Formats: sequence, C-alpha cells, structure tokens
Amino acid sequence: MSEFYVYDTTLRDGMQGMEISFTLDDKIQIAHRLDDMGFDYVEGGFPMSNEKEAAFFEQCKREDFKHAKIVAFGSTRRAGTTAEADPHIRALLDTDTETVIVVGKTWKAHVHTVLKTDEEENLRMIYDSLSFLKSQGRRVFFDLEHFFDGYKDDPEYALKVLKAGTEAGADTLVLCDTNGGTLPSEITGIMKALPRESLAPLGGHFHNDCGTAVANSLAAVEAGAIQIQGTVNGWGERCGNANLCVFVPNICLKMGLKPKVAEHLEKLTVLSRFVAEKANIIPDKRQPYVGIASFSHKAGQHADVVAKQAELMEHIEIL
Ligand SMILES: [Zn+2]
Repeated sequence: MSEFYVYDTTLRDGMQGMEISFTLDDKIQIAHRLDDMGFDYVEGGFPMSNEKEAAFFEQCKREDFKHAKIVAFGSTRRAGTTAEADPHIRALLDTDTETVIVVGKTWKAHVHTVLKTDEEENLRMIYDSLSFLKSQGRRVFFDLEHFFDGYKDDPEYALKVLKAGTEAGADTLVLCDTNGGTLPSEITGIMKALPRESLAPLGGHFHNDCGTAVANSLAAVEAGAIQIQGTVNGWGERCGNANLCVFVPNICLKMGLKPKVAEHLEKLTVLSRFVAEKANIIPDKRQPYVGIASFSHKAGQHADVVAKQAELMEHIEIL
C-alpha cells in the first residue's frame, strides 16, 4: 500500500468518553505527544461547540508541530442556508487549520428526524459545505455519519452521499460506524461492494459497542481504507472508539503498513500512560501491547519457555 494515514481523535471524540476531561493545557501537551509519535492527523475539537475548543485552535496557531496536521471538526451547513454564511463553516475557516473534517448524514432516518429536511437538500448541504471549504484551499475530509446503517437501509442513497462528497472534492470519505453495531464481515462486504473507481479514497471511523472497533478498522484497511480514525486507549463515547494503541502495532507489525507512526512504536506505552495520567484514569493492565500484563508471564511453564526463547510464547519481538 502506497499511502496510509493514522488519524487521532482523542481530543474530540475521545473526550465524549465517560469521565474523560482535559484542560486546554492538557490538550496542547497531548497534541505534541501525538505529533512526536508520528500520528498524521490530530483532530483538535469542534470549534463551534464551546470557547475551550475554539481556544485550542487559537493556541495551535502559535505552536509548532513537526509532522501532525491539526484538524478542526464541524458539520455540514444547516438546511436552507449557504455554506459561506453558515456559522459552523465559518468557525472551521477561523481555525486556520490546513485540514478540516465535516460530518454529514448518510442515513435517511437521520436526515428526516434529526435534520428535519429532505434527502435532496441533505445532498446539497454536503456538496455545498465541502466544495466551499475546498475553494478556500483546505484539505477536506468527509465523515459519513452512520454510513453502514444508512447503507444497510438504502444502498442507493448511501451511494448518492458518497458521490456528493466525491464531486465536491473531498480528499477522503470516512465511513463511520457511529453506533458501533457493525461486525467486521459486514464492513468487508459493504466496502467491497462500493464502486471504488468513481469515489474519493475511503477511510474508517469505528465505535466499539460490539467490541469490534479494532477488528472493524483492520477489516477496513484490508478492504482498502487509506485512513483510520481512533483514540489513544480506545476511549470515547459509550464503549469507546478504535484503540490506536492496538490498531497501530497490528498494522505496522502484522500487516506491513508503514505510516509515519511505525518509526516510533517504542513510544506507544509512554503515550498511553501519559494520556491516562492527564485524564486521571488508571491504565488498563491488560490492554494489548501497552498494558503491563501484555508481555508478562507468571512463573511456571510459560515463564520457563520465555526465559529460553521469548518468541516461542510471545506474539511479537519486544522492542
Ligand atoms: Zn465517533
């Protein structure tokens, strides 16, 4: 695979998690750690939602990041307005980030019930918002909220949403499993059924309500996703997001992908604990790769084998 990008949303979606709260200073420090780690994109928050979120982007204008691109999150314009005049779109532009991400609806039930508009206007909202941000020189990612549920309900409409995003110039169409109810086999089946040659590159954003967010992310990579979004320690709303502390070693050590973060895997445990400390949460000992139990062996037969030759019991060579 020629290109693959790791997208961190700890500072936006991660903060929707129960008991997760970061100060502005915490957020800036975490953003620098994520940058040092080699993550490609660091989503900083939703500038329209409150002053603290907007202040993060103001501060970032004065910060220097070596590799990571800071990303501002917002939604499509409201029904019946123009993108130019919409406060969400203006707030994205005011952050001055080179990259922005816009969330839009894919599932018709949400278009009717949440947006209270019709399907054609939803497509125009997507097209107008993304194309306006592109005309302002931004790299634009499009988060297709509830994509998999929307596709299962009406594949034709989901395809129209993908096409609206593509025609508007989206750089990546991020397929979201917003309620975390989709299984890996469904991710594979749906992604393989899409007419890829006529669409912008695909990415994935998975929640962990079935305990399969990392598995779904890996399935999406195998089906050709070039970007996966997740959070440090898998924190996020309800049961969390795809855990980047598990996903990243899997793609680098077991699938041969080489995103920038592959150069810094040895820093992952420190990153996991740093973010836990900032959130004031005790790290999970049994977390794969970064938990203290992950490469521990109790005395006895297993410990004896490890002492002789670790790779006979452990699934990777310890860095
Ligand atoms: Zn999410």
